Amino acid sequence: MTAELAPGPNASRQRLETLFAAQKAAFENERHRPLDQRKADLKKIEEMVKVRGEDFAKAIDADFSRRSAAETAIAEAGFTIATAKHTRQHLERWAAAKRKPVPMTLAPGRAYVRREPKGVVGIISPWNYSMQLALAPLVAALGAGCRVMIKPSEFTPRTAELLRDVLAELYSEDHVAVVEGGPDVSAAFSALPFDHLFYTGSTHVGRIVAKAAAENLTPVTLELGGKSPAVVAPDFDIAEAAKTIAWGKYFNAGQTCVAPDYALVPRGSQAAFGDAVMKEADRMWPDVAGNADYTAIVSERHHQRLSEMVEEVRSAGAAVLQADFDPAKAGNTRIFPPTVVIDPPLDSKMMTEEIFGPILPVLPHDGMSEAANFINERDRPLALYVYAKSKMTARRLLARTLSGGAAVNIPMLHLSVEDLPFGGVGPSGQGAYHGEYGFLTFTHERAVFEAPVWHPSRLVRPPYGKIFEFFKKLQAG
Ligand code: NAD
Repeated sequence: MTAELAPGPNASRQRLETLFAAQKAAFENERHRPLDQRKADLKKIEEMVKVRGEDFAKAIDADFSRRSAAETAIAEAGFTIATAKHTRQHLERWAAAKRKPVPMTLAPGRAYVRREPKGVVGIISPWNYSMQLALAPLVAALGAGCRVMIKPSEFTPRTAELLRDVLAELYSEDHVAVVEGGPDVSAAFSALPFDHLFYTGSTHVGRIVAKAAAENLTPVTLELGGKSPAVVAPDFDIAEAAKTIAWGKYFNAGQTCVAPDYALVPRGSQAAFGDAVMKEADRMWPDVAGNADYTAIVSERHHQRLSEMVEEVRSAGAAVLQADFDPAKAGNTRIFPPTVVIDPPLDSKMMTEEIFGPILPVLPHDGMSEAANFINERDRPLALYVYAKSKMTARRLLARTLSGGAAVNIPMLHLSVEDLPFGGVGPSGQGAYHGEYGFLTFTHERAVFEAPVWHPSRLVRPPYGKIFEFFKKLQAG
């Protein structure tokens, strides 16, 4: 079905344009894919993931050099099935026209919003959850009734190939098509005049994609990254907070957009908190080198970047705690052990760039106001976590800050609540998806006013006289 891209950017561009034209023509032929067919499209994804889940687990494992099968089951396969099922079950309600009240001055008439598919949409996905972050937006786009082109990350080529093959078995390529390639293909991809472009990845590339889309006035959703803080309030038990922060940080070896990037704890408790995090990491992932549940780093370059971050702060005098790690036992895997850094310099790479790996910097705060200031002095994060016994304390921190999403006393789980919007704000992204928000991302809300054959507004026209005066009074209330 989907042919290999010919090598070279021009050939790729030609192939992209041919695919785009085919999808555009197919969309024009079927502007309103019936809901039954959309539900069947979604059901196919659910069934495919159930049947091919193992193949995906193997492909992702090979791409990462080691990916915990449990993490793939929960965060890739399980998540995709749940989102497809949720969309299928709520589709009728989401897709239905929404009636709106008509003001007295415009009566009689009927006002409503038609929820129309935008058309042909593009999805550019990253490597860190290489299956889910391609398929979850696809679910939203198919639910909305769109035609979809997907460009998966070149860093996970086996997953990209599998996505291409399984989706080619399920859908004709003028409905869903996968194109593989690196930045050159991706740049040509984002220059296509899509009806919507959905990008997940780094803030740096997000800017490039948004510029390319702006040339066509293509609306974009940008699901970006950033440094998501975890703040522990003075009333919260340090060791308890360490338990779930360690889980959130080291799940997928920290390669999660909403992983807690750094921790802010009450001054004086950094060392105790750091020890508790390491203890918990060791309890969850003993012997990381040979532990099949501890995920490796996706590429040598990324591994090197993390090592350099740690070396920079170590030579600046920060205390580095690292789980025992025997490289010989790790074999060919790119394992980076769970790491905690106490008080890294604020101008270090670790504190100025998104870490995206299993390193947790721990810094002190002198109260929740100071923690809020620390956060507000930096880019608005994708997620914010607050640990507080008092709901008031937690909510006060939320009120004083802004982030894409947030969770209280637990990291990351807000993104699994299907009905919550998932997205960033400012440098961590724009737009959102999941549940109805995803459906709406790929939907145009079209305003309609239906007047009867003869409508009283015809009387309000020049030459303006008594009826106009009456209408003016009515309008002014
Ligand atoms: P990346 O930006 O390097 O790559 C993402 C995609 O962009 C890939 O498909 C890549 O081929 C493409 N790309 C690269 N250069 C391009 C260019 N010049 N023009 C167009 N496309 C180009 O990101 P990554 O390293 O794969 O992912 C890591 C980042 O993604 C982190 O910052 C992380 O926080 C973020 N992320 C965000 C979310 C979210 O939902 N908000 C989810 C996962 C990852």
